[in-house]
Amino acid sequence: MAEKRDYYEVLGVPRTASADEIKKAYRKLAKKYHPDLNPGDKSAEEKFKEVGEAYEVLSDSDKKARYDQFGHAGGDPNHGAGAGAGGFGGGFGGGIDLDDILGSMFGGGFGGFGGGRQRANPNAPRRGGDIRVSLVLDFMEAVHGCTKTVSVSRQDTCPECGGSGAAKGTTAETCPDCRGTGYVTVQQRTPFGVMQSTQPCRKCGGKGKIIKTPCSKCHGSGKTASTKRVEVKVPAGINDDQSLRLSGLGDAGANGGPSGDLIVIVTVRPDRMFERDGYDVHVTVPVTYSQAVLGAEIVVPTVDGKVQYNVPEGTQSGTTFRLRGKGIQYLNGRGRGDQYVHVVVEIPKKLTRTQRDALKKFEESLKEENYEQRKGFFKTLRDMFDK
Ligand SMILES: [Zn+2]
Ligand SMILES: [Zn+2]
Repeated sequence: MAEKRDYYEVLGVPRTASADEIKKAYRKLAKKYHPDLNPGDKSAEEKFKEVGEAYEVLSDSDKKARYDQFGHAGGDPNHGAGAGAGGFGGGFGGGIDLDDILGSMFGGGFGGFGGGRQRANPNAPRRGGDIRVSLVLDFMEAVHGCTKTVSVSRQDTCPECGGSGAAKGTTAETCPDCRGTGYVTVQQRTPFGVMQSTQPCRKCGGKGKIIKTPCSKCHGSGKTASTKRVEVKVPAGINDDQSLRLSGLGDAGANGGPSGDLIVIVTVRPDRMFERDGYDVHVTVPVTYSQAVLGAEIVVPTVDGKVQYNVPEGTQSGTTFRLRGKGIQYLNGRGRGDQYVHVVVEIPKKLTRTQRDALKKFEESLKEENYEQRKGFFKTLRDMFDK
């Protein structure tokens, strides 16, 4: 395994960064390296994973505190077992819980910590690890909800041995050295006297069990890797950066522990027409000078399709209209947001000579009382500069 980079370095934030700064840095990088936006780019995929892992730890105040104190050995639920517990040789595999890692650190590998904590029991039921997958949705898919299939690589309990790791017809034996606890107490003579310490059992590698004939399918690990396609029902109204938790679809637990969860992290592609703000939708509609002056019936796009809207006579450029209840459906409840229509007067860029002349003639016909703002504006201007 390559040397792991510092999580703060991965996210490009100082160690003093606030939760908000960490979140911002993560969002920026996750977008940049998202696999769907960098198809086939292995290094982007690696970066995406690295960034996600760093965020998972640094966004959780508990894990962050442990990481700040112990580095990768304390903060990382997926790789900590091997690093933190010294002699274990990674025998526990994935899905180990942080308390177990710390427990084994304090209890054994790192003797110096005092051993105040309870040791990890290798036979205790453990929950399987959570699996994170990303799902990219189009704007409308998020607005209306959809059903998507994601591919999930998970650790299953080996069907051949039922998770024991022992070949069919045989059983794993309790380790005679540690009597199944996974730990042994050793005494060492030192210049200061006899020191007693608890260490992971060497004979069984801390597993508490010895498998004489390993299962041919899982080679004794009790787990098999499989890739499954999982159907995800995405509720209407979901937004960018939200996630769905599918309970029990993560890695299988150990020793009869429950499975972890599948966490689907949603990214919503920006839309060409609509801009989203919470459950509200914003749309900018260009109208002509005459439409703004005379009033007009215009076509306005909404997330449900086109609607007619009457722009009143004398509408100023930049006016915003609200279409109540035409926004996005609330994720967990009844009701919808609103749609805001921003009307902008578009000025023609090129005119023919005839058009120019007609416009000039029209302009000359206008009087000051045709306008509301100009009179006040010029009066203030004179007051300011022409005293
Ligand atoms: Zn097996
Ligand atoms: Zn043992």
